[in-house]
Amino acid sequence: MRIKANEISALIKEQIKNYEHKVDSSDVGTVVTVGDGIALIYGLDQAMLGELLLFPNDVYGMVMNLESEHVGVVLLGDDKLVKEGDTVKRTKTVMEVPVGDALLGRVVNALGQPIDGIGEIKTSKTRPIERIAPGVITRKSVDTPLETGITAIDAMTPIGRGQRELIIGDRQTGKTAIAIDAIINQKDKNVICIYVAIGQKNSTVAQIVDKLKEFKAMDYTLVVAATASEPAPLLYVAPYAGVAMAEEWMEQGKDVLIIYDDLSKHAVAYRTLSLLLKRSPGREAYPGDVFYLHSRLLERACKLSDQYGGGSITALPIIETQSGDISAYIPTNVISITDGQIFLQTDLFNAGQRPAIDSGLSVSRVGGAAQFKATKQVAKSLKIELANFNEMKSFAQFGSDLDQSTVNILKHGEVLLQVLRQEQYKPRSLDHQVFELFMAKEKYLDDLEISKVRPTLNDAYKYVAHSHKDLLKNINEKKEISPKVEEGLKKALEDYFALQK
Ligand code: ATP
Ligand code: MG
Repeated sequence: MRIKANEISALIKEQIKNYEHKVDSSDVGTVVTVGDGIALIYGLDQAMLGELLLFPNDVYGMVMNLESEHVGVVLLGDDKLVKEGDTVKRTKTVMEVPVGDALLGRVVNALGQPIDGIGEIKTSKTRPIERIAPGVITRKSVDTPLETGITAIDAMTPIGRGQRELIIGDRQTGKTAIAIDAIINQKDKNVICIYVAIGQKNSTVAQIVDKLKEFKAMDYTLVVAATASEPAPLLYVAPYAGVAMAEEWMEQGKDVLIIYDDLSKHAVAYRTLSLLLKRSPGREAYPGDVFYLHSRLLERACKLSDQYGGGSITALPIIETQSGDISAYIPTNVISITDGQIFLQTDLFNAGQRPAIDSGLSVSRVGGAAQFKATKQVAKSLKIELANFNEMKSFAQFGSDLDQSTVNILKHGEVLLQVLRQEQYKPRSLDHQVFELFMAKEKYLDDLEISKVRPTLNDAYKYVAHSHKDLLKNINEKKEISPKVEEGLKKALEDYFALQK
């Protein structure tokens, strides 16, 4: 049998074509270098940004860089299990995490795997961790309060469901305490809570979980933990995993509160990854897209319109500042992304004013629309009075003889600070907050010695809760102080002070 030369070449060409087809080079790559949790892969020219890749020993990696020569990948497992020359396979899926009610009461890692040692999480549904935030048309402005139970916040910087409010302050100023109190206060308020711990100590997270259990708050709470001992890629994906889980509930029409503790450590983890991937460093060595890192995360918090189920995600990101510098790069970024900030001051904290909220630098740009009328009635002038007080205080340091009106302003300011003091794990109900602010507004406290103000507030509330239950019940139900209730409160307080004499 004789074959012509051109037939041979056609045959070979055909075979080469099939050969190429059998081993699709675009789906398998080779590890060129590996180290510090980063791998560079040769091949994989079809890989997608954010796609999961499978390395030997069941290590997964996520595509972060698509370059002309190779693909940059962050490893989500132990990088010691990956060697140069290893083959890498595409999975053709982006990263997903389990979602659903089975997660409630659980502690999971950034991949959604349980780490609380109480068995597997039975859920069949998953969601991609990255998603484009709901658009303008599907949203509605905030109209329902998210009660934190902290008087200073609910009165001065009220938060609405679907809002993003930043908690910012130096280390050890009670940032986490505010977030945990807000979670504890959501009991029986139909809000699902997610606490995302980023770069914290294992022991801190364990303490928080214990506290939440103690207050029976784990029933409606999920903890997503990427602790300091874990590789940077897991810290980087943790908040996106958390918000993906939140979105599932929001789309069912539920209200979710999500806390990111904290985004400074998140930015640092991302900076680590970016520098290892040889992306060019910019201001403070952060990569140029560090704004996008947080904006695409926080934009996913929103209030959906009724047509889309009316669910919401309220986000409380936390940022740690260095010696009160809120004008550093990451703080200014996140301040501009959120709808307001609660600024905590070391000086106030050390002076015993806790929560150490700086009333002048804290704002809530949208929450006022969602504040209860009762709170508005008693807290309208609170911020101005405190501002006056702070201004006078700095003057009063110099002069000894002050006129009576200045003395009054100073005294009233001191009283207000006492009203705003609150211990940890003691959220106050609406009527409690309103009652105390009412006492301050109606100047029942200005003649007392400062050391007597807090005890009197506690005592008077106990008295009214005991002998005038209906008044407080009315405030809780109607969410406002009717003229009749106002009269009743005044009468009750007169009785109370008469009894003290
Ligand atoms: P870090 O920067 O370490 O994360 P943080 O700003 O989150 O700290 P917390 O851990 O919440 O601060 O609080 C620091 C300490 O202050 C804790 O010991 C806590 O118990 C205490 N603390 C916080 N808030 C209050 C409060 N309202 N009353 C009394 N103590 C408080
Ligand atoms: Mg903290």
